[in-house]
Amino acid sequence: MIRHLTLIGSLALACGTACADARFAACLAEIRAQALAAGVEARTFDAAVAELTPDESVIQAMQSQPEFKAHIWDYLAGLVDEQRVADGKARLEEWSEVLAQAEQKFGVDRYTIVAVWGVESDFGRIMGTRPLVRSLATVSCAGSRQRFFRGELVATLRILQSGDVTPEALVGSWAGAFGQTQFMPTTFQRLAVDFDGDGRRDIVGSVPDALGSTANYLRRAGWATGAPWGYEVRLPAGYAGPAGRRNKQSLAQWAALGITRLDGRPLDGPGQPGLLLPAGAKGPAFLVFRNFDAIYSYNAAESYGLAIAHLSDRLRGGGPFATPWPTDDPGLGRAERREVQQRLIELGHDLGQPDGVIGPRTQAAIRDFQSARGLPVDGRAGMRLLRALREGAAKR
Ligand code: CA
Repeated sequence: MIRHLTLIGSLALACGTACADARFAACLAEIRAQALAAGVEARTFDAAVAELTPDESVIQAMQSQPEFKAHIWDYLAGLVDEQRVADGKARLEEWSEVLAQAEQKFGVDRYTIVAVWGVESDFGRIMGTRPLVRSLATVSCAGSRQRFFRGELVATLRILQSGDVTPEALVGSWAGAFGQTQFMPTTFQRLAVDFDGDGRRDIVGSVPDALGSTANYLRRAGWATGAPWGYEVRLPAGYAGPAGRRNKQSLAQWAALGITRLDGRPLDGPGQPGLLLPAGAKGPAFLVFRNFDAIYSYNAAESYGLAIAHLSDRLRGGGPFATPWPTDDPGLGRAERREVQQRLIELGHDLGQPDGVIGPRTQAAIRDFQSARGLPVDGRAGMRLLRALREGAAKR
């Protein structure tokens, strides 16, 4: 097997380990000048990078491409499952006072705020574990987006210096997103708020700060108070008209194309929406307004925006989409994914503790199972696979 050479690995091969170290040190010296010019004190910088080495696993994470693009129905089934809806409802109760204050101050409704929290970090449970300074220093000195990441590293050092977040708490994704809201450091600098009034903006340790910061983000992204993100619509049979989040038309234009609300009522809502068809015209269809764009801006992915929008509706008491996804093999929630893992473990696969995350090891075990049963081998954890695992267990 050919091992994919990483950037740092190939650098070390080209010029030796000592040389790679020297290049990293030279890169940090450049960033030091940039940081000091941006108001980072020398002692803050020097303490943060003392004995810092590049993190090879961050380079690998940056270069790794998902083996296949997840179906939208798998993506949403994992993010908007019964467990997350129940957890979100419990958080709405627990933090109702803070959420009421956030609604008052920022004009963003509590269901959307809690939905962002649930999708970003599973309500603070999964915030990433990589030390931010080391990850960002690594990608600031290797790869194709060094300029961007240097700005994020400098922002991280300014957060350290401000004392908003403690150094131990500054951990996150390989790319630098951190805290219960998974803000990038520059986003934190612009938009995080101290919502519990203790003088620190702490989106890691303070739920009120995280919720207030999320609401502030959405307000600054153009949130229209009291307006819907959008809603599911019904398309006429064989619809082949315009579509797309950014392809905005007036309600009259959409209505003229035969599009109605699910119950047949005329279309309503603020301004000009786009038409979102995440799985084409045969799947669920949505008119999306400017509040959807505000959610979208959080992570620049329509599937992600739809997960948050849909979770917010579920938290309001709404149900699943009326139109089924165009598949006979629906996606699984996290409880069902854990069941898939548990059943594979019972068949002798070493998957550790079932965690509901379908990673490369679980996918390999699924392919083994599919291959042994003469099923199509794709490594995907869907409903058909789960049924086959259950039937196999019942026969044993
Ligand atoms: Ca605070």
